[in-house]
Amino acid sequence: MSENETRQQLRSRAKRIGAFLNKKYPDPKVALDFSNPLQLLIATILSGVVVDTHVRRVSQRLGLATTDDPEKIEVELMELLPQDDWYLFGNLLVWHGRKTCDARKPDCLNCPIQKLCPSAEEFMKLKK
Ligand code: SF4
Repeated sequence: MSENETRQQLRSRAKRIGAFLNKKYPDPKVALDFSNPLQLLIATILSGVVVDTHVRRVSQRLGLATTDDPEKIEVELMELLPQDDWYLFGNLLVWHGRKTCDARKPDCLNCPIQKLCPSAEEFMKLKK
């Protein structure tokens, strides 16, 4: 969340991020490979936002999370999104973290949510 961004604007940005990512990854669930069965159980039964290393990194870069603590990130994301979107949004961030927003080399130039990402400019400057 940038200094000038209101809560409502942040929610709207999160929604647009989800929509763009869902166009790029129409069915991210089939490609997920949860190594921790408990996470899978939580994701499918309780429908919370699963916060793994990808979700943590990507949500921070996107300015949707303000902390490094996965449990707090989960709460922050759940506050931003309608409950029906929690599970899908978590999956989309995992998939985006694997495919585009790499830990070391995020592919900001080809990122479908570059215009919605407050970190893009910084990463692209580093690449020059
Ligand atoms: S613009 Fe770059 S840092 Fe932002 S989400 Fe896309 S790949 Fe990640």
